[in-house]
Amino acid sequence: MARIVQKYGGTSVGDVERIKKVAERIKGTRDEGHELVVVVSARSGVTNELIARAKAVCEFPSERELDMLLATGEQETIALTAMALHGIGVDAVSYTGAQAGIFTDKVHTKAKIKTINARPVERDLKAGKVVIVAGFQGINEEGQITTLGRGGSDLTAIALAAAVKADKCEIYTDVDGVYTADPRVVKTAHKISEISYDEMLELASSGSKVMQTRSVEFAKKYNVVFEVRSSFNHNPGTIVKEEVAYMEKVVVRGVAVDKDQAKVVITGLPDKPSAAAIVFSALADANVNVDMIVQNVAHTGVADITFTVQRDDAQNAIRVLPPVLKKLGGGEVKSFDNIAKLSVVGVGMRTHAGVAAALFAALGDAGINIQLIATSEIKITVAVDRARADEAQRAAHDVFGLGK
Ligand code: ADP
Ligand code: ASP
Ligand code: MG
Repeated sequence: MARIVQKYGGTSVGDVERIKKVAERIKGTRDEGHELVVVVSARSGVTNELIARAKAVCEFPSERELDMLLATGEQETIALTAMALHGIGVDAVSYTGAQAGIFTDKVHTKAKIKTINARPVERDLKAGKVVIVAGFQGINEEGQITTLGRGGSDLTAIALAAAVKADKCEIYTDVDGVYTADPRVVKTAHKISEISYDEMLELASSGSKVMQTRSVEFAKKYNVVFEVRSSFNHNPGTIVKEEVAYMEKVVVRGVAVDKDQAKVVITGLPDKPSAAAIVFSALADANVNVDMIVQNVAHTGVADITFTVQRDDAQNAIRVLPPVLKKLGGGEVKSFDNIAKLSVVGVGMRTHAGVAAALFAALGDAGINIQLIATSEIKITVAVDRARADEAQRAAHDVFGLGK
């Protein structure tokens, strides 16, 4: 008997028929004698619809109320999944995030998990029940409902797997695993059988939305080995863990694209010590996550700074910065929200030269202009025009010979 945590994403529980299929799958695992905690997302599209409705009634909805609203998406699917299991004779109970003891910090819409009190879940597992937990949500110390950031059901599953000391954690989605690029964009992409936390982390944070970034960080920190696989078939998926055999040999493991990016440009910032610190502290205080940063002092006395943010954060940056620039003695800020970020990732890059040159040449040959460049030990990222992002993904995938 093993203890297994399974997570089913939005498409996997997308309608009543899919929920019944998932229930059958859960029954299959339960019939093998395993203990089972199941995390489910909202039906696909529901979270987006709820956000659109919130914005339709108020331009800047309160984040507390947004969490209150978004948490309902998962509350629907936990109850329906439990009922579907009852319908086929499986004892199951549904839990909201709060009922499952998932305690978070106070940051609405992107809360971090602080602790999990797994006692109620453990009690029901011991009583032979399948425990169905709402993904993406928790409760803070003031008793307020919080959510864990988009794609946060992955985090719920991985954190619960650590908390209940699961033997196995399975992330069920609508593709067979983690691919060398988004299989919906790059037809020649192929499934990776094993990938390291570091590479998965870089792919996720660079836009491969198959796993939420924070969930992979959590898995690495608590050494939760997990498998990404499809709920639509029984094919083996991708195992994500610390060390994988081929690591150094493969130079580029995969390509990722994030289309939800914006570029913020500050021009004419006084070139003096602490100017950057003051600008980025103000952004951090406003919870704006900054990604690529380029500073250039082209003329004496003034600096230009360009950085990228998630598209949703651009307005926030534009709102926060003008008073800060005024205090610093000058500078103008503008945002451009037609940006995509393309990254190539691979641990093997540490020991291989020429990866950046090959990427730039491939994009150049395709006539795609590079707006910003950033590199780390195992990743090269460029910002390009969003309209060319799919083409750029295919060109990068081809040049590193990743196709099947
Ligand atoms: P779920 O609702 O199950 O959480 P998501 O939509 O969040 O599923 O993530 C799965 C999607 O991620 C796939 O349908 C695929 O289009 C996309 N994706 C992007 N990059 C990759 C990749 N490298 N490997 C697999 N899927 C990817
Ligand atoms: N329903 C949430 C979202 O769409 C969480 C998730 O699906 O993981 O972001
Ligand atoms: Mg997801």
